Amino acid sequence: MIPYGKHSISAEDQKAVLDVVKSDWLTQGPIVPKFEQAIAEKCDAKFGVAVNSATSALYLACKALGLKIGDELWTTAITYMASANVALQCGALVDFVDIDPITYNMCVENLEKKLKAAKKKPKIVMPVSFTGKSCNMEKIRDLSFEYGFSVIEDASHAIGGNYLGHPIGSNKFSDITIFSFHPVKIITTGEGGIALTNDQHLFEAMILNRSHGVKKRNQYEAFSIDDEIWNYEQIDLGFNFRMTDIQAALGISQLKNLDEFVSTRREKARYYNDQFSSTNLQLPVEYEGEFSSFHLYVIRLPENVFKISRNTLYQKLVEKNIGVNFHYIPVYRHPYYTKLGFEKGHCLEAEQYFKEALTLPLFPDLQPNEQTYIINEIKSILY
Ligand SMILES: *Cc1c(COP(=O)(O)O)cnc(C)c1O
Repeated sequence: MIPYGKHSISAEDQKAVLDVVKSDWLTQGPIVPKFEQAIAEKCDAKFGVAVNSATSALYLACKALGLKIGDELWTTAITYMASANVALQCGALVDFVDIDPITYNMCVENLEKKLKAAKKKPKIVMPVSFTGKSCNMEKIRDLSFEYGFSVIEDASHAIGGNYLGHPIGSNKFSDITIFSFHPVKIITTGEGGIALTNDQHLFEAMILNRSHGVKKRNQYEAFSIDDEIWNYEQIDLGFNFRMTDIQAALGISQLKNLDEFVSTRREKARYYNDQFSSTNLQLPVEYEGEFSSFHLYVIRLPENVFKISRNTLYQKLVEKNIGVNFHYIPVYRHPYYTKLGFEKGHCLEAEQYFKEALTLPLFPDLQPNEQTYIINEIKSILY
């Protein structure tokens, strides 16, 4: 089966991991801060907090921005459920903004309409740079000032991408940006994620809660409580979300290949675009000022244009050992969210998109003959 996404691990990556395994520090050693610095530097951000997953990073970001019971977080209907779950885990309510039918990102017109109409404004809006393509962050930033919300960019798909001349992750238009290092994403640490910010207070809050909410002092500036001397104390309710040095070493090594991974993905995406240009498939678009990392390559079969449905195409391709996939089910259609009261039809564009969209295999090691096979199979099934 040709998978829809897959990591690439070099001999150098393997050596980097082995070096740490043989060293004194497997976790909480010198490599994690080096990794944080390397990612922050690459993305033009001041601070990075590396953790054991992007989900943990999203949760820390929400906590640092003060999300709590009674607050609301809005995200896009088409995302991985983690984007919404973290709000619920903070005790807040979540709501979904419908997508743009061409970019599949959160539609800023819908966001503005929803903000105008809402009695209770959201505390946080979380756009997702879906497939690696930035949202209209400039407009979202303007709205954040007008309506007083914070912006967390879930850029789990998007490391290596650019927007209006800035690397995604620079936080030019957001408070905190998150990347995921799960193996299907652009670069990997096995499991892992990072939160980037330019705000020192947010940085310190996320560092604190990454490790139990415990603050440390050295022996010369130990806390002094009722004549007792403490060199660490818990001041918030955190978790153990720490990344290991083993993971960070893999991350540092992978980061060296980031630009090449992204340019290879973009070449293969362009090849799909060229080969499908004479079909009626709706293909990914890139507007001026955008540079997508192409985590995913999504095609859309507009309803009533083809003799077969997206579901049939999916089944026929799986029979041919082509590991196509769906990204994503509108989050609120999951049974857990239905039980919270969300109804079918909440975001109509997202639901139409979900009926028509299919993710094709795209990753740096996808071989030219595999890609040709995929393209030929799709064309012969559709026409
Ligand atoms: C992968 C992903 C996540 C979760 O990432 P993990 O590192 O697996 O926790 C969150 N949001 C989006 C949009 C993702 O694609």
